Amino acid sequence: MRRISKKLILIILGLFCVALYCEWLIYYVVIAQCSWLRLEKVDNQNVLKAFILADPHLLGPFRGHWLDKWRREWQMHQAFQAILNVHKPNVVFVLGDLFDEGEWTDNKQFNNYVERFYRLFTVPKDIKMHVVVGNHDIGFHNRMRRGAHARFNKLMNSSSVQHLTLKNNHFVLINSMAFEGDSCNMCTEARKHISSISDNLNKCEFDSQYCHTNGVYYNYSKPILMQHFPLYRLSDSVCTEPDAPPLPERNKRFRLKIDALSREATDYLVSKIRPRAAFGGHTHHGCLVRHSIKTVEFLEYSVPSFSWRNRPDPKFMLVSISPDDYAVSKCGLPKESTICLTALILSFTVIVCVWRMKTIGR
Ligand SMILES: [Zn+2]
Repeated sequence: MRRISKKLILIILGLFCVALYCEWLIYYVVIAQCSWLRLEKVDNQNVLKAFILADPHLLGPFRGHWLDKWRREWQMHQAFQAILNVHKPNVVFVLGDLFDEGEWTDNKQFNNYVERFYRLFTVPKDIKMHVVVGNHDIGFHNRMRRGAHARFNKLMNSSSVQHLTLKNNHFVLINSMAFEGDSCNMCTEARKHISSISDNLNKCEFDSQYCHTNGVYYNYSKPILMQHFPLYRLSDSVCTEPDAPPLPERNKRFRLKIDALSREATDYLVSKIRPRAAFGGHTHHGCLVRHSIKTVEFLEYSVPSFSWRNRPDPKFMLVSISPDDYAVSKCGLPKESTICLTALILSFTVIVCVWRMKTIGR
């Protein structure tokens, strides 16, 4: 009897260690395998370390099973905190679709959503987090409910156009749905704001006395564009990354203004902002596109989804940025199949080892 209870205690202890590894430590083991790329000729202290993620799609009150919701949130929370602890970024960018059902929620449900988002993606005071809005947060341009855009802006501190300057690197963050190309208030305001940022940066490029906004002084550098949608492209057939959409989905023609920005909006933004790089989400897959638009040449990165609900191998990016250079490191999170297989093998090993101990004891 004593031998059986000893065996039970050992199995419970062993399985507890397996759970600890598979539900917590495995995120550290996988995340630590990725690192910031070094920028040549730039002192490490002057490099801005940006952690970029997209499409976490937190489930809301309408869709999904509670177990699915709980599991995905647990995974994203563990992964997010492990990334902060291991890589210590200066800034976090979340590229839209924070919520899966933001567009359908009433104010009370949306407040709960926001509170849950900040609980799962908590950042310490020395790390800034900036978010851009996605279509699942407020709805597509033509399906947006009254007040959805304003409440997101208010609670997430994310206006339709944001200009950030961090270590003399400029970031222009935009609401993709505000570039529909019509004369709605949101779209008119957004273009006015883009024009003003463009004027400031153009003047600053040639005369440093203009390099300031709201009393904050900076040096000129080419901006980086961040948004939820990809820039204009006809499909994902141009994507050749290993995490690009599978065939035949990759060749499916995009619905412009729904799957990607229109050509008009893309040309407008590129001619005004003249970005050195662009980052977006929305497709849930990886893609790297080389653009040459109106003599502006730059790379556009599609950031794969951060949620295990959207892909078996969620990803994030660590981007080292200086005013003259940047380097992108795309990092993977543990695959669901790896976690399950590891748990199965380790649990089996624990049980067999304890069993053998017992037989040896005989
Ligand atoms: Zn989206």
